[in-house]
Amino acid sequence: MNVLDSQRLAGVLEASGLRRANRPEEADITLLNTCSVREKAVQKVLTRLGELKQAKQSLGRPRVVGLCGCVAEQEGRGLLARSTVLDFVLGPGRVAQLGRALEAVAAGEKVSLTGFSPSQEYEAHLIARGGGARQFVTVIHGCNQHCTFCVVPYTRGHEASRPLAEVVREVEGLVAAGAKEITLLGQTINAYRCPATGAGFGDLLGTLGSVPGVWRIQFVTSHPKFFTDNMIQAIAATPNVGTYLHVPFQAGSDAVLKRMHRGYTRDSYLELVGKLRGAMPEATLSTDVMVGFPGETEEDFGATLDVVSRVRFGQLFGFIYSPRPRTPAAQYPGRLPRSVAGERLERLFALQATVQFELNQSLINCYVDVLVDGPAKRGAESWQGRGPDNRVVNFPAWNGVRAGDVARIVVTGATPHALLGVRTADWKGGSPIPTA
Ligand code: SF4
Repeated sequence: MNVLDSQRLAGVLEASGLRRANRPEEADITLLNTCSVREKAVQKVLTRLGELKQAKQSLGRPRVVGLCGCVAEQEGRGLLARSTVLDFVLGPGRVAQLGRALEAVAAGEKVSLTGFSPSQEYEAHLIARGGGARQFVTVIHGCNQHCTFCVVPYTRGHEASRPLAEVVREVEGLVAAGAKEITLLGQTINAYRCPATGAGFGDLLGTLGSVPGVWRIQFVTSHPKFFTDNMIQAIAATPNVGTYLHVPFQAGSDAVLKRMHRGYTRDSYLELVGKLRGAMPEATLSTDVMVGFPGETEEDFGATLDVVSRVRFGQLFGFIYSPRPRTPAAQYPGRLPRSVAGERLERLFALQATVQFELNQSLINCYVDVLVDGPAKRGAESWQGRGPDNRVVNFPAWNGVRAGDVARIVVTGATPHALLGVRTADWKGGSPIPTA
């Protein structure tokens, strides 16, 4: 989501005739696009502003510095008032007004543009996408859920779906420009409902799946409580939807889930996993887990480990709880010492690494269709891409391979975090090769 927001900001600048600087030090305008989901992000912004203060003095001509994204929405006015380096702040709901902010700065004003209008301006045609084969498309803005730990409803506003016809036009345009994989974005993407027709998320996937040239569709992030049986059937019935399903469960204890205000229980989550796997046996589930939520006991954490063991996620993003401004959980008693939460996170990661290694090993000798990203590291002979389930796949490059190619790779090895393989033309093993 932040990558796409940066592309939107860059697009507004390029549309007004500005060009990208070759190096950050040479830029006349520097924008910091920020995330405030965790505390560390705010600290990073403050450090970066300190560095920019020195850079501003050494450039020898005026440099404009703007703070954008969720930290701008959350802390913007206060930071603008006390920072000598910041010229303006611009929240995520105001990207289209970047030009207005720059005009105000040119007239000698410091401006703060934050908040959300009911009909957010979303100028898809201005996004500076860079022409890659993998592209992002927002289908639903904001969030109405108010999980008690989460700052998103305050920084990204109320939930608002984009009209289905508008999303389809955007995807058609991207495919015409060379996109192969479209990742649909939304905080609660499966709560999507077209404001013009009432079409739901399953309808959206079905429609996009039949847009000529769409090779693969991915989507993040689904909320467990918004899946319906019809939606699951629609996802399963759309052949070019990827097999990667990101479904955060956050905690395995019902008491913690209730305090988080997540709207489901451990059992209903496990029941949902059963339905998803029943309809899509090849699906790889991925999840977010929060450890150290206020009041989390060792028994609560044990329930989280139990869910991880039972579901066997292909990917897991684990975080230590950090209190966020304006959120109810920031006032909850029972804050855990950092050392306790850190030790639990380590145990979670150790369990997940074992599960992931076993799952990845089980794919050896299978094939996987990969969208090629490019060299794994700058100048490396080993290239990488991603399979339909978002797994990273590393392979030796061959003559003529290019980023954006689709390649069939046979898996010859695995680590906890990646598959290793060779393209089928170079495969010396037996056949037939089952799909991964
Ligand atoms: S559903 Fe996701 S984005 Fe919305 S409040 Fe909960 S954690 Fe935050």
